[in-house]
Amino acid sequence: MRKLAVAITSMDMPAVEKISESQEEDPFQILIATLLSARTQDATTHAASTRLFKRARTPRTMAALRVKEIEQLIYPVSFYRNKARNVKACCEMLMATFGGRVPSTMDELVALPGVGRKTANLVLIVGFKSLQNICVDTHVHRISNRLGWVATALPEETEQELYRSTNRRWWPYINLYLVTWGQNVCRPVHPRCGDCVIADSCPRIGVRRKRV
Ligand code: SF4
Repeated sequence: MRKLAVAITSMDMPAVEKISESQEEDPFQILIATLLSARTQDATTHAASTRLFKRARTPRTMAALRVKEIEQLIYPVSFYRNKARNVKACCEMLMATFGGRVPSTMDELVALPGVGRKTANLVLIVGFKSLQNICVDTHVHRISNRLGWVATALPEETEQELYRSTNRRWWPYINLYLVTWGQNVCRPVHPRCGDCVIADSCPRIGVRRKRV
């Protein structure tokens, strides 16, 4: 993790981290950007979030938008119709149940429309500075298995295994480091093992074709 911390400093940050930095870690904007980010390229997520936040920045103003309008603002993120419905329903629930604020517990967050553990963990880590959570997306799941930190089939299992197999001081950083590494070096196909600063300690489990 220390080697990754140094290696990623010159790399582009994931979209949600960029938004977090530019919006002073506002949990609401982190929540919405993460909802938009599923199965979508980072640049597309960032551009769509920026357009949406220009139009509405709070649960109250976003809940007042029509679904069609949200669709147009977030297009071309993948599943933009579903995501637009979830964004509006999520904002309505924030207004109706949580007084217009993003809740800060896992149970409350996963009760919001479209919010699963991945989104909830990222909101807790980035928005509320939690030191108790690990956010597992496809990059974290893939790289943790390649490194042999876990041997799991599903991201949900990876999250629970990582709590057992990693030092808790790194929990808030695992997502940022491994997502950045996964986007730049340890890619899903053709990982650049020859350029990898942790290659010496990586058993490359499940890696079939590697670019050196
Ligand atoms: S050595 Fe290859 S498989 Fe292992 S972390 Fe580095 S890029 Fe990924």
